[in-house]
Amino acid sequence: MPYFVLKDTSLKRFHTFQLDVMASIVVIPTDKNGLISALRDYSGRRIVLIGKGSNMIFSQSSYDEHTVFIVTTMVDLMELSDNLIHVDAGTTMNALAWFTCEHSIDGYAFCEDIPGTLGGALMMNAGQWRYTIGQYVKWIEVFDYDTQEVKIIYPDEKFFSYRYSQLNDMNVCVLEVALSIQPGEYMEILDLMLQYRRERYVKQPRQYANAGSVFKRPKDKEGNALFTWKLFDACDLRGFQIGDAQVSEKHPGFIVNKGNAKVADVHMVIEECKKRVKETFDVDLELEWRVI
Ligand SMILES: Cc1cc2nc3c(=O)[nH]c(=O)nc-3n(C[C@H](O)[C@H](O)[C@H](O)COP(=O)(O)OP(=O)(O)OC[C@H]3O[C@@H](n4cnc5c(N)ncnc54)[C@H](O)[C@@H]3O)c2cc1C
Repeated sequence: MPYFVLKDTSLKRFHTFQLDVMASIVVIPTDKNGLISALRDYSGRRIVLIGKGSNMIFSQSSYDEHTVFIVTTMVDLMELSDNLIHVDAGTTMNALAWFTCEHSIDGYAFCEDIPGTLGGALMMNAGQWRYTIGQYVKWIEVFDYDTQEVKIIYPDEKFFSYRYSQLNDMNVCVLEVALSIQPGEYMEILDLMLQYRRERYVKQPRQYANAGSVFKRPKDKEGNALFTWKLFDACDLRGFQIGDAQVSEKHPGFIVNKGNAKVADVHMVIEECKKRVKETFDVDLELEWRVI
């Protein structure tokens, strides 16, 4: 079977913020060919791709049959060939980190605790510290919605930037990516992965559903990077809550769902954050989350 179709289902388990949003059609391809079939079969409708849904938020409490959600997480083969790592779009960053560690391949430890898929990560150029996924990409196989064909993209040095890639300017779905191989030491990679995970768990509000950093790191008028949490603390936003949507008390860069947050609650919290930061510091916050 190339894909499953779920009708009139909640999207709660298909995104990490866990809003109880209803969808008329959710399609789950079982492999890459199933994904291509689904993209062709539903062409003409609005297609929304969901990887792990760890960087997205919804703007409606229900979506009718004009919007088709395609969840890619079963499209998850990964193998070594031609001296490259070939990774399907629905593979998680965590699986990539462990796979590379097991093969003593350096460079991917930073992926261990980023809870998204490679497809989502390429759209967002996901990363942390000085590492981003874009720096390891050799080529990307995509489905082109306009031609309905599969093609290969070879990114140049301008293709990826901070939490952005030029894939967003193209009308494509990521199918597979080929990543570079750098030899490393198994124990060093393993230690790094565990260290990163520990550091992130200590800082981040993992006890509540969330979708990671809400805003891109802001800059002042001179272009200097600012810390969101410092701005939020100065505006008394830590713990600010509407319904069950709350600016995390542990890490104000995150908005958490304390149980039963509604779409409107989340958007009101976002607007209040933007408003207070603009009024107090004249800084415009830009959403990192994709609003569907
Ligand atoms: C606790 C937590 C910690 C996080 N830490 C980090 C971090 O350290 N660094 C970081 O960069 N991010 C972080 N994130 C955010 C998120 O995990 C990343 O941006 C991740 O790469 C998104 O992947 P995803 O599969 O969840 O994408 P989704 O949220 O499912 O999708 C994101 C966007 O990509 C599109 N998309 C998804 N798959 C495809 C595809 N195959 N082809 C084309 N478009 C596609 C979607 O339609 C959407 O527009 C964190 C999130 C959480 C919840």
